[in-house]
Amino acid sequence: MEKQVKMAAKLYACRDAAKTLAKINKRDYLEMLEPYIVILKQVMLANNLEEIPALLVVSGTKTYQESDMGQLLFMAATVELIEPTETSIVRKNLMNERGYSPYCGNDISRTAPGGCDNPRTVFNGEQFECKKCGWVSGFPLDFITRYKAKWNIS
Ligand SMILES: [Zn+2]
Repeated sequence: MEKQVKMAAKLYACRDAAKTLAKINKRDYLEMLEPYIVILKQVMLANNLEEIPALLVVSGTKTYQESDMGQLLFMAATVELIEPTETSIVRKNLMNERGYSPYCGNDISRTAPGGCDNPRTVFNGEQFECKKCGWVSGFPLDFITRYKAKWNIS
């Protein structure tokens, strides 16, 4: 338990460091973390563990111990699994503005068959849906789960 607390304290500092590292290398932060996130998820699934215990398992491996950069990215990846950075503006708005909804994403011209003038969408309990043309957003389930939790939507 003490080990876990110590680890948690380091994690948030690592997320900031990883973001800086991505910026310096002109790389997309989440793209850079992706392989580390994948490994952590596999360890979590295989051992039925939560994020930090999974990181502790990974931290016991030789690969982890031999790479400072790898350690930093594994720690940042752990934070992203616990508390994801909301990257896109739409996602940020959805998580921060009560009642916000994105515009319909149908890109067929409004005058063409099947087209739409892209009004704001309505949340249907699973995704955002356009009432005019039936377009449905494609947010990943984990995001929708956080969205519903944030606004107490059941
Ligand atoms: Zn539409």
